[in-house]
Amino acid sequence: MHKVSDISIEADVLAENRKLGQDNLRHLRSHGVRSLDVMGSIGSGKTLLITKMAVEMKKKGLRPAVLAGDVTGEDDFSRFQAAGIPAVNVNTGKECHLDAHLVDHALDKLDLDSIDFLFIENVGNLVCPADFPLGTDMRMVVISVTEGDDMIRKQPLIFVDSDIAVLNKIDLLPYVDINVDLLDRDYSKVKNGAKLHRTSAKTLEGLDQLFRAIDIDL
Ligand code: MG
Repeated sequence: MHKVSDISIEADVLAENRKLGQDNLRHLRSHGVRSLDVMGSIGSGKTLLITKMAVEMKKKGLRPAVLAGDVTGEDDFSRFQAAGIPAVNVNTGKECHLDAHLVDHALDKLDLDSIDFLFIENVGNLVCPADFPLGTDMRMVVISVTEGDDMIRKQPLIFVDSDIAVLNKIDLLPYVDINVDLLDRDYSKVKNGAKLHRTSAKTLEGLDQLFRAIDIDL
């Protein structure tokens, strides 16, 4: 059982993170950088979705960059670099989420005056990142059609705490046994009637609507 002291330490950590997050947001905005925290399950297609969105942005003259968050390794970071997108690798060591302090340090490695839009790819899972806002304009959560239709019901908090939710890999819908109506209904229920966006990072389907949802006019 939690002791009172454990609970107050946790509350302090969360409050400190929120304060640092607000500093990050001010910092980014002072350089005219808009930002999106991309959360979601492992294998939901966050890296490819960000890559495709960033490539589309570049075609229209916007200058995107990515903070690539993972527990260890440089796999996602290398994929962003290979796609010609400026990126910084952020390893959490063992933590299952990024936090505002890690982001603050990572921002020092970017030339914010040469960036218009920053994607932050959070560590892949639907639990830990919810409690740690990083100081972005918006937060988005990504799930995919291969994960089953109970994702939202099982982990509602991250959907409640984000601004946008995406059901990715819809190109695979003919091959999976999933009730999308159920996901739509669960999302609408936890998010006051809001709609789940559908995308395929592979075919680019749904990207136009997603750009509109994050207020990017391409
Ligand atoms: Mg990834």
